[in-house]
Amino acid sequence: MSKIKIAELFYSIQGEGRYMGVPSVFLRTFGCNFRCAGFGMPRGELSDEANDIATVAHMFTKYEDLPLVSTGCDSYASWHPDFKNLSPMLTSDAIADRICEIIPHGEWREEHLVITGGEPLLGWQRAYPELLDHAKMAGLKEITFETNGTQKLSPEFKEYLTKWRNAYGIDREVTFSVSAKLPASGEKWEEAILPEVVCEYEQVGTAYLKFVVATEQDIADAECAVGAYRSAGFTGHIYLMPVGGVESVYTLNAKNVALAAMKRGWRYSDRLQVPLFKNEWGT
Ligand code: SF4
Repeated sequence: MSKIKIAELFYSIQGEGRYMGVPSVFLRTFGCNFRCAGFGMPRGELSDEANDIATVAHMFTKYEDLPLVSTGCDSYASWHPDFKNLSPMLTSDAIADRICEIIPHGEWREEHLVITGGEPLLGWQRAYPELLDHAKMAGLKEITFETNGTQKLSPEFKEYLTKWRNAYGIDREVTFSVSAKLPASGEKWEEAILPEVVCEYEQVGTAYLKFVVATEQDIADAECAVGAYRSAGFTGHIYLMPVGGVESVYTLNAKNVALAAMKRGWRYSDRLQVPLFKNEWGT
């Protein structure tokens, strides 16, 4: 039986993107190919917040107790090696059982599954079919992969997702919510903006791009990236979303980001988990 290293598994409301407001199970896998230490920092500088917390990682025994950060990656414990002990390797049986415990009716009805990270399309692609084929997952109709858009789908996983969408004659949806990382994240453009990878997602589901922005320069970078994705044939929607894992930062730029999205005919994505739940772990 295959296993997945699970950073968090919780039930909440999707706060971002296409399914904003929809009751959702969040399966947060461990591991990421990026660090995104530039978020919330002056351009060219990198945050040390995650590393500073890691120096006292031994004090934390569960995610809910971890501090929130105002700079860098707000889900740092889902990839930082010093927190890997908080993320157990779980079998498909254990994950499916846990999901049935946390959804309201003990079975899938209206709920949507969000597979997030970290970066959920790393090696775990091999393990998802066994989980999604589990008898307790049969009622699931909608999945979103929240990805940074850098990981190609394996031919086997593409084939599996295509079959999953059409199984049992019910309408099922696969969505790729692609949070492509602009230079403000601290990641390199040539490693983060990979249009051919994202175009491939459109072959097996609905894909959209969601850019996290704070400044005019970030918005100009998003325009440049959109040009590259469109040139490669990407047809999905474009969202702008305000930076800010903590409320003070988010509130500062949400309206400006909404106005910038309107001006370009793009969509605005909120981060409902910030005003509703203060972006606490497990929300
Ligand atoms: S890609 Fe996402 S999970 Fe990975 S470091 Fe960046 S913000 Fe964090």
